[in-house]
This record gives sequence, C-alpha cells and structure tokens, in this order.
Amino acid sequence: MWNSLLVFWDQYHGLIIGFGALGLVLLFNQFVYRRYWTSYPTREAYVAAHPGCDTVDGVVCATCRRKALVGPVAGRGRIYRCGWCDTELYCVDAA
Ligand SMILES: [Zn+2]
Repeated sequence: MWNSLLVFWDQYHGLIIGFGALGLVLLFNQFVYRRYWTSYPTREAYVAAHPGCDTVDGVVCATCRRKALVGPVAGRGRIYRCGWCDTELYCVDAA
C-alpha cells in the first residue's frame, strides 16, 4: 500500500506539486478578490474612466488593449482581469 504510494509519488511528484501550487494560487486569488471586492470598479465606472475600452468585441484592457478574461469569484460574482499585463479591470456582482 505505502510502497505503491511511494512509487506514485516518485513518478508524479512534479505534477502533484505543480497542481498543488496552482490550486493554492487560485485559492489565494479567490481570497484576495473577495477581500478587496469593493475596491474594484464596476463595469460602468471602468468604461466611464476608459471610454475607448468599450469596443464591439467587449471591454478591453486600458493598459495593453487586449481582451479581458473573466474569472468567477465564489459568493461574489465575476471579476474581469487582463491576463496579459496582470491588471484587474472591474467586477460584476452576482445577480
Ligand atoms: Zn492588459
């Protein structure tokens, strides 16, 4: 039992640590987004502050002009952030 676990660990520890770290980062992000939720602008405020960012393809990043990524935040709503330059753009409260 323990032997096969050890073999498994030996073969896959890189993957396991990788996924573990990824999971931790995602959890940490959820925590940060929830903690600072009210500090993110709403979509309306963001578009008002950066009028050129409201394009037909959707809202783009004010810094690098690329399309924002959507990330769900548990119990809060969704956050739109730029995955290219790592900027938080705005948040949308859950309906
Ligand atoms: Zn950007």
